[in-house]
Amino acid sequence: MSSGSAIRGSRVGAGPMGEAERGDPAPRQRISYWCAQGHQSRPSFADDADPPDVWDCPRCGLPAGQNQQTPPDAPKNEPYKTHLAYVKERRSDEDGEAILAEAIAKLRGKA
Ligand SMILES: [Zn+2]
Repeated sequence: MSSGSAIRGSRVGAGPMGEAERGDPAPRQRISYWCAQGHQSRPSFADDADPPDVWDCPRCGLPAGQNQQTPPDAPKNEPYKTHLAYVKERRSDEDGEAILAEAIAKLRGKA
């Protein structure tokens, strides 16, 4: 149960890529992960541990992979959210009235 110390010890904005991490008491390996939104996280694992292929991005929660070029796909709820927002927009009162007025106008035009 030694989780937490590694996270607390990492400083945000300490520097550009590849800051030197020296003086670590235990041998550790630092693995870079990238999520679909381009966030990089670099959790460290014990040297003899087997780092997972996918790591949850601590910033947005998306799955992050070790290959920056091909991050794992975001969960499928993204298109659904977009669609829902689209439907909600379409259902705003203003649009509803406009659509209704248009429909009535067509009906009256035909009649
Ligand atoms: Zn992210």
